[in-house]
Amino acid sequence: MALLVKVNEIDNVAIAVQDIPKGTELENGIVTRDDIPQAHKVALSDIAKGAEIVRYGVVLGYAKDEILQGSWINEHMLTLPKSPSVDNLVHGTNIKAMEDLPMPTRTTWLGYRNKEGYASTRNLLGIVTTVQCAAGVLKVAVENIKKELLPKYPNVDGVVAVTHPYGCGVAINAPEAVIPIRAITNVIRHPNFGGEIMVVGLGCEKLTYDRVLPPEDITPENVLTLQDYKGHDAMMQAIMDMAEKKLQKLNERKREELPLSELLIGMQCGGSDAFSGVSANPAAGYAADMLVRGGGTVMFSEVTEVRDGVEMLAARCVSKEVCDKLAAEMKWYDDYLDAGGVDRDANPTPGNKKGGLANIVEKAMGSIAKSGTSPIVEVLSPAEKPSKHGLIYAATPASDIVCGPSQVASGIGLQVFMTGRGTPYGLDVAPVIKVCSRNEMKDHWFDLIDISAGDIATGEKTIADVGEEIFNFILDVASGTKEPYSDKYGFHNDMCIFNPAPIT
Ligand code: CA
Repeated sequence: MALLVKVNEIDNVAIAVQDIPKGTELENGIVTRDDIPQAHKVALSDIAKGAEIVRYGVVLGYAKDEILQGSWINEHMLTLPKSPSVDNLVHGTNIKAMEDLPMPTRTTWLGYRNKEGYASTRNLLGIVTTVQCAAGVLKVAVENIKKELLPKYPNVDGVVAVTHPYGCGVAINAPEAVIPIRAITNVIRHPNFGGEIMVVGLGCEKLTYDRVLPPEDITPENVLTLQDYKGHDAMMQAIMDMAEKKLQKLNERKREELPLSELLIGMQCGGSDAFSGVSANPAAGYAADMLVRGGGTVMFSEVTEVRDGVEMLAARCVSKEVCDKLAAEMKWYDDYLDAGGVDRDANPTPGNKKGGLANIVEKAMGSIAKSGTSPIVEVLSPAEKPSKHGLIYAATPASDIVCGPSQVASGIGLQVFMTGRGTPYGLDVAPVIKVCSRNEMKDHWFDLIDISAGDIATGEKTIADVGEEIFNFILDVASGTKEPYSDKYGFHNDMCIFNPAPIT
């Protein structure tokens, strides 16, 4: 078995497939000078002080001191290059033709059709609060609904309380308040809620109903204000009564065979390691290409994890308009980080570094692989809904627990989540499929990780093999015939919506 994975011909580093002891002769004749931890980098040649360290064919950084062939290269041994400017991006120079994308092996799935927008992957009663003050009441009410009402409506898959930290004590008219308000507005109409609107407010909050609903939807059938009710029992009963009416309507929905154009999914990664970019993310990218070829829509995100590859993304933008919006979103995030006194390299975690990722450039090159190779047809601001079919870049923070809710607000029917280090992360509005980058991770968390892409790193499977496996699993989960582990156990994170605006 090969001990090293080298991604690009011009790379002067490769990563260790497993822990390699000092003094081991590698397949290319190089002898290791240090113990090399799994997923970490080995120098393939002598690298002079100040010289480029290259992986994925790009400069990860510059050597702080001379590095001899066979040495372990850790995150302390290189300096970060400057991030590319977004001022004069060139678009459209790498537009792949549809017929060059891999052909999908299936062209339909089973979903619940909606009157408008994408179809549902789950048939859920979604109850959204306008303020965190109502969250405690709603969580108790939802437990009661699940116990007393849900069993009567077998076609409804579940009940979700969308409770978030926004709504009051916030500068509601601040320019950036549009982001959390848009997230709440759009999640009320998430495709998995089947067009049934149920909003619970307190009564004195800043986020009034008219900020998240059009006038025609602000009716006694759709909105409920806790301060209008006399005491606990009346409040609970009102929520139960409204929920039952919605459940009756949702129960009439049935799955039907639908084309891939009715499916919208999101891609995210978290707890990445140096294998993420050679196994899990490229395999997910292959699945994304199959979906796009079949007319489906795939969203990828995480600004700080694409920032260093922005020129590669610009080359895949179908128009100047799309490219300009990409540049504007990157610029917005640069300024946001700048205002906080940090830069993009604040992103990698101790776990990422332990997993061999030296800095944000290396993490970004691996992260972008999950977008596949198709053209970018649209760029969205955080929590915006897509208007096109195909590959879409939705700007969100890279934080797992914030990216997820942002993509949910944009309407994803499920999320594919790539991990190297492992996370039990999940979402209750849309199922999350977990793909890991190494077989050791799958062995360790055999009943938490859905698919391992580790056989790619060891050469036993190709990116296409695992890509097709992911594609099939996406359609099975979307169709409700398979359940990912996060849903099996009910491991669901909170709706941590992105709020870059001031709190008062
Ligand atoms: Ca993430």
